[in-house]
Amino acid sequence: MTPPATKPTTIHCALSEAAQVLQHASTSPALDAEVLLSQVVQRNRAFLRAWPERPLTAEQAHAYGALIASRLQGTPIAYLTASREFWSREFLVTPEVLIPRPDTELLVELALQYLSARRGAVLLDLATGSGAIAVTLAAESTESVVYASDVSTAALKIARRNAERHHVTRIRFLHSDWFEGFPGDLRFDLIVSNPPYIAEADPHLGQGDVRFEPTLALRAGPDGLAALRVIAAEAGGRLIPGGRLLLEHGYQQADELRALLSHCGYRDITHHPDLQGHLRVTEAAWPDD
Ligand code: GLN
Repeated sequence: MTPPATKPTTIHCALSEAAQVLQHASTSPALDAEVLLSQVVQRNRAFLRAWPERPLTAEQAHAYGALIASRLQGTPIAYLTASREFWSREFLVTPEVLIPRPDTELLVELALQYLSARRGAVLLDLATGSGAIAVTLAAESTESVVYASDVSTAALKIARRNAERHHVTRIRFLHSDWFEGFPGDLRFDLIVSNPPYIAEADPHLGQGDVRFEPTLALRAGPDGLAALRVIAAEAGGRLIPGGRLLLEHGYQQADELRALLSHCGYRDITHHPDLQGHLRVTEAAWPDD
């Protein structure tokens, strides 16, 4: 007896089945289903809507099933598509790097404001990860001299690929544990960083995308301030007199960070709210007298 022929699934059926499966695993099951099917059929979401009755090949159905299974386990969409948009550019992202967040665009905006009045400024993106900040700043502020560092060689590889992807050839990449591996005489006009700032016991670490992101990029000791403490203590020695420090941090860390920075000798400490109104980025000046 021949086995019953399995009816090939269509775009519409595959999508509605996947959205159903993802119902409790995602806050956007229908969107996830579309984004992942777009990737499998190599067409945009408008195509999926225009051709709901098109059949999927057996290979496509199989590949889609595997992606939906990973998403069901919680794997972030950005890792499944190896991509995330930041400041209107597509960045390669892998599990070796933090997924760029819209919150971090505030850091970029403030850095660009600072750079707009300073031609030829030398800047550093400390702990660059995917390179989203460094590549954006280098692309948008073409006269700046841009350095990007990370302790993770895997992250630096991704950052380099992102620089190539966006044809930004002038970033100098440094492999370094904070400032440890930097040439002795290197000084910056501006240091920006989105360092790890989540407390080890924060329940947030057990939810959503962060479960799959690199610990190194997220966790910062029992109070979440371990990395910010190191940066506050060491960045001053790497800034020119009057240089600026711009740091992203947790929404409840502004007061503690202000105390740390002022203790280390910084002046003009200002907090900036993100789109949700949380104090998310702190700016500080290194004294020039
Ligand atoms: N903003 C991220 C989050 O809360 C954390 C990023 C970081 O630690 N630098 O998910």
